[in-house]
Amino acid sequence: MSDFYATLGLTKGATPDEIKKAYRKKALEFHPDRNPNNPKAAESFKKVSEAYEVLSDESKRRIYDQYGEEALRGAGPGAGGFSGGFSSMEEALRTFMGAFGSGGGEGGSSFEAFFGGGFEGGDTGARKGSSKRISVKITFEEAAKGTEKEIAIQNYVACSACGGLGAKTKAGIKTCSSCKGQGQIYQSRGFFSMSSVCPNCQGTGQMITDPCRSCSGEGRSKEKQRIKIKIPAGVDSGMRLKMGGYGDAGSGGGPSGDLLVDIEVEPHESFTREGDDVYLDLPITFVEACLGTKKTIPTPLEESCRIQIPEGTQNGKLLRVSGKGFPNVHKQGQGDLLVRIAVETPVKLSEKQKELLRSFEELETPHNYPRRKGFLEKLKGFFSE
Ligand SMILES: [Zn+2]
Ligand SMILES: [Zn+2]
Repeated sequence: MSDFYATLGLTKGATPDEIKKAYRKKALEFHPDRNPNNPKAAESFKKVSEAYEVLSDESKRRIYDQYGEEALRGAGPGAGGFSGGFSSMEEALRTFMGAFGSGGGEGGSSFEAFFGGGFEGGDTGARKGSSKRISVKITFEEAAKGTEKEIAIQNYVACSACGGLGAKTKAGIKTCSSCKGQGQIYQSRGFFSMSSVCPNCQGTGQMITDPCRSCSGEGRSKEKQRIKIKIPAGVDSGMRLKMGGYGDAGSGGGPSGDLLVDIEVEPHESFTREGDDVYLDLPITFVEACLGTKKTIPTPLEESCRIQIPEGTQNGKLLRVSGKGFPNVHKQGQGDLLVRIAVETPVKLSEKQKELLRSFEELETPHNYPRRKGFLEKLKGFFSE
């Protein structure tokens, strides 16, 4: 039974920081790139990596501290288990890369420079298919009511002949000999080892020796698909719907990508939209503005509604019709319809009309025009100063 603390030159109460520092020092000392053809150094490198593997993992360390190394071996994987001493240099190197390879941690700048960019970690086997982006144009009314659109896209789908396997039978899939199924290979650069995706199997860890004839071992093929997209009521331009699993089929048993649908809503001739509220400009005559009236107006949901325009309505006045705007796309209520009054000054008056307006003017009092009255009073104060 080995003492992992002693292996790293530490005692039992060491902090995670001390453990990492001690491991770095020892690992660099025994690293195979610094000690070519030195089996003793290689053994030491495996030993310190093994010790670090346990002590850097909180749950493994707890078991080790309480029950010793044997308990770790008994626990099995998943329960904080430990497979036992590193049999290969690859395992030890992986621990080393895991501790320092991602460029984070407390490495000095020269240390990080060794790992700049080229490191690709943890990439083996199953890959999610690519996601697709499309944009769909709908009318203002369709956005208000919700709609369904059918579109055609080219997707990679799992090959029907081999069910996505890529080989005629399961026996036609062998472990990749270059990477021994790891999907990654380790190369030395300077003092350190880098892992990269195995070029022989493209990271899947498998070789197809008996490829499916229909897809030439690809496991998937391109196919035109028609997809129905349900667009909910209340969507707006710039919103994106995510249709999970409607992208390309994955490879190596990975999940399918997604289909991302960017929504574009065409503008409307009469309505403009702000959030869930909708604005409508309504021209009325100056007589209607003076005397008040009732009007039938359209709504975004293509039903009409009646509104009361009160006596003495001013130009630009906003009348709010509650709940007649857009439905909220998250089903949280309904916006309002805001009717913006535009009082139109009559043009091309006949002599008779002008005559009547002149007689009307004679009967006007300052009370008919409170805004004008207030304005003149303010001006009076201005001139007297
Ligand atoms: Zn390989
Ligand atoms: Zn196939």
